[in-house]
Amino acid sequence: MQKMTRIDLITELKSAKSVGITGHIRPDGDCVGSTMALYLYIKKNLPEIDTHIYLEKPPAIYDCIKDIDRVEDASLCDREFDVFIVADVTVTGDRTGEAGKLIDKSKKVINIDHHITNKDGSGDVNYVIPEASSACELVYDCFEEELIDVEIAKALYIGVIHDTGVLQYSNVSKKTLELAGKLITYGFDFSKLIDETFYQKTFLQTKLLGKVLSECVLFLDGRVSAGHLTFEDMQANHATSEDMDGIVNQLRFVKGADVAVFMYGISEGTYKASLRSSTDDVDVSKVCALFGGGGHKRAAGVTIDGTFEEIMTKLVNEIEKQYA
Ligand code: 5GP
Ligand code: MN
Repeated sequence: MQKMTRIDLITELKSAKSVGITGHIRPDGDCVGSTMALYLYIKKNLPEIDTHIYLEKPPAIYDCIKDIDRVEDASLCDREFDVFIVADVTVTGDRTGEAGKLIDKSKKVINIDHHITNKDGSGDVNYVIPEASSACELVYDCFEEELIDVEIAKALYIGVIHDTGVLQYSNVSKKTLELAGKLITYGFDFSKLIDETFYQKTFLQTKLLGKVLSECVLFLDGRVSAGHLTFEDMQANHATSEDMDGIVNQLRFVKGADVAVFMYGISEGTYKASLRSSTDDVDVSKVCALFGGGGHKRAAGVTIDGTFEEIMTKLVNEIEKQYA
């Protein structure tokens, strides 16, 4: 991959009259944080630009982000933007969902991402650094420090916290911690923010987590832990993808398990799987990429057809090959 230098956002948007912003389907903390930080930054510092943000409805935990109610549904929009900024996802492919058609129509595409499966960046201007903890870390690089305010800092902090498991995962670098340190100086209640967006679970989420953990199974002599909820379970509980957040993390805590797999039925015969690796031996982005998914070495996902048992057979087979 070519060495990428930071994008100077203000310069890139100099002659733009309209800007669209999007992230990936089923938006998580880093996706919501990075795109909302971009939205707030442009609105504040380049108010003459007609700026719009398109995402699937963000989970309610992100209601604490300023102007989150400005998020629009791309399926209801049909227009040409001067610039489209695509954060925390590859531009091409179907992970941008309904916003894909708006991206295709726009005059210039800026891609800011940290997924290792986003090979060279797929926009006209790219800032794709797989070593970065989060898209938020890269979005911050594109900002002028003095043009950031407390609301922008808070949105960025949410992304950093969520993609690093509260500054714990191996994607954390000195730069990540320095950024977290800078962001908290803007003066928001970071402790409450972590509690309310990362740790707190609804009653339904707590019950479903309990069900997954009580039925969890092991593969490869305990090196892989796995749990699932069928499409019927999802329907019976009126559960959505939002309710699945964090379940795979709990499966990581099984002693002896290097890889955790959690999957939930999104339709009859189709699962959305999340994989997490706690070892350098297994790169789960490679496993997921084999089935059309992607992500990072230690956190990746894929949408895949079959029963839980069939899918696990395929995934475990590929995981086993990586223990050379
Ligand atoms: P999660 O398991 O939390 O959904 O996702 C883990 C990481 O993998 C995230 O960075 C997410 O963007 C990425 N990811 C999840 N599912 C997919 C997928 O189907 N395709 C690709 N390319 N990346 C995915
Ligand atoms: Mn991310």
